Amino acid sequence: MRILVIEDEPQLARHLTRSLILEGHEAETRSDGETGLRAALEQSPDLVVLDLNLPRLDGFSVLDRLAEEKCSSRVLILTARGEIEHRVRGLKAGADDYLAKPFSMDELMARVEALGRRGITPVATNLLDVADLHLDVRERRVLRAGKSIPLSIREFEVLQVLMEEPGRVFSRTELCKRVWHREHDYDSRTVEIFITRLRKKLDAGFDTPLIHTVRSVGYTIRPPESATHS
Ligand code: CA
Repeated sequence: MRILVIEDEPQLARHLTRSLILEGHEAETRSDGETGLRAALEQSPDLVVLDLNLPRLDGFSVLDRLAEEKCSSRVLILTARGEIEHRVRGLKAGADDYLAKPFSMDELMARVEALGRRGITPVATNLLDVADLHLDVRERRVLRAGKSIPLSIREFEVLQVLMEEPGRVFSRTELCKRVWHREHDYDSRTVEIFITRLRKKLDAGFDTPLIHTVRSVGYTIRPPESATHS
């Protein structure tokens, strides 16, 4: 993968890039938010590893700008251990995954590998439909009522899992495993944030919501005619 590391701690930045290159990736570093953002927009790397606490332009502003510019790069944010609110805010602002500092290079590689995996499971068909919502797995395209809806990679994958089995209720744990490949450090907040992000993009502006919460069980997608109260 082509990876851009935006991190202002020189030693960590060097260590990160070196480890990524050793794993066979192409990696570059920028040490502040402003030049990092510029590099991300110019190069659209496959992955941006983004520290949140950066000089000149902080990581949240970088995320906002990447979203505004509809940058297709996946984003892994680096947060300080214990700063759960930062993680939540970063995921809400469009990041695909997070890693809390301090982390081992093994943890980083596991997250990078999970973000590099394309697609969830091989499906029998590339085209999935639920009511007026249409998802094309191969072209990574989503349309609702004919209107194209840009999604981040993880938003797309959450939706794909739900749409492969309309009406089936997926628990947060299962979605977390299937999409983020997080087996041990499962985190229900992340799943909730992505469902909220998807609802904002897919259901806002339409009369019939398609994504439903099944209280204390999980989430499902289903066409309006089979909807029950939820
Ligand atoms: Ca920093």
